[in-house]
Amino acid sequence: MAQDAELMTIIGLTGGIGSGKSAASDRFAHLGVTVVDADQVAREVVEPGRPALVEIAKHFGEAVLLASGALNRAQLREYIFANTPAGIEAKQWLEALLHPLIRQAITTQLAAINSPIPYAILVSPLLFETEQDQLTHRTLVIDCDTTIQQQRVQARDGNSLEQIAAIMASQLPREERNQRADQVITNNGSLEALYVAIDEYHQQLCDQLANSAH
Ligand code: ADP
Repeated sequence: MAQDAELMTIIGLTGGIGSGKSAASDRFAHLGVTVVDADQVAREVVEPGRPALVEIAKHFGEAVLLASGALNRAQLREYIFANTPAGIEAKQWLEALLHPLIRQAITTQLAAINSPIPYAILVSPLLFETEQDQLTHRTLVIDCDTTIQQQRVQARDGNSLEQIAAIMASQLPREERNQRADQVITNNGSLEALYVAIDEYHQQLCDQLANSAH
């Protein structure tokens, strides 16, 4: 990314579904680190009253709106995860609309961070896939074995293995993600073990940043 002396160091945090991104970000937040959540930003840009939601309703029809006027996510997912040419086209259309809006909103939120801690986190499930890593200085992947990942997602969301496989297929393969990361934290053990690894990462980064920029 373009170096900007005023901008604090941004760490891009990612991982496959159920790898432990939220658990890791919660720990960073507990340590006082500002966390910008790309999923949260993605929800904000389609809130009622936002221009993107009007575009989506025009494109897909009123069935993608709930009675409250909010986005009917289950309906939209059915359209875009449908493994048909129409489903693929719908996904591409939606991404072309939303990705630039999400990117702009993330950039604004990152630029507004004011914190005594010398770095902040951008957590995003599609950090590399959507090139949001360009908004960061370094990347950190939370990784766990595929079987553990599937078990944790099933326990959390009650999804079928087929649904989990479809989501995993829409994300980078694990090896590629790990290869692209500046650092990987393995989350095969307990939550306490994850917290210890995050605390160590935090301490090392704060020490490094005390001596050099980014
Ligand atoms: P992600 O945000 O990457 O999708 P989460 O952080 O939500 O993943 O983790 C998936 C599920 O697994 C959550 O219910 C979470 O509480 C649980 N979990 C994450 N890490 C661990 C761990 N080390 N031990 C036990 N459960 C975990």
